[in-house]
Amino acid sequence: MNIILLGPPGAGKGTQAQILVDQRQMVQLSTGDMLREARTSGTEMGKIVADVMDRGDLVTDEIVIGLIREKLEAGGDHGGYIFDGFPRTLAQADALGALLDELGMKLDAVIEMQVDDEVLVQRILGRAEEARAAGKPVRADDNEESLRIRLMAYYKQTAPLIGYYHAKGDLRAVNGLGAIDEVAGEIKALLG
Ligand code: AMP
Repeated sequence: MNIILLGPPGAGKGTQAQILVDQRQMVQLSTGDMLREARTSGTEMGKIVADVMDRGDLVTDEIVIGLIREKLEAGGDHGGYIFDGFPRTLAQADALGALLDELGMKLDAVIEMQVDDEVLVQRILGRAEEARAAGKPVRADDNEESLRIRLMAYYKQTAPLIGYYHAKGDLRAVNGLGAIDEVAGEIKALLG
């Protein structure tokens, strides 16, 4: 089973992806995690993406599509893929569709995690605060200014995917405002 978790920053995509990895032996493909790894590698690509990410803008479609292609081509034995934070643009959604076709795979569901902005801001600034208190590194883009840009990028570039997947018949929605296990329960019920 291959699914997309769709929702704004702070919706809980990463948390729910981790639960699905544990419960269903699925593989989480988070382009955000891949990019954070790339930026510490000291490569040319890493330097280019670091600035863009810290600002809160999206990196180019070519870069993230290339990262996803690499992972999908590597294959492996598992319960399917969870696309987390990808696709984020219509071009990425088209590229993913083409890539899955090419590899003889299909998308089983797109799960939209619905939350409201006030909660997102609280969650993300809270995440930064917790990390700071625990002496852990704080994500450079977990600040109010970058968050504003990340939310705008979501509404301008990613939210149109809701209509796109609705039209394809793949869209399902869950209430992302509940407790972690409530949301996990809703997702479980959807996936069967
Ligand atoms: P995330 O961890 O998903 O919140 O992603 C952190 C940052 O990485 C985003 O704000 C973007 O700068 C970049 N990023 C992650 N995934 C994508 C994507 N699919 N397309 C473009 N940029 C991305």
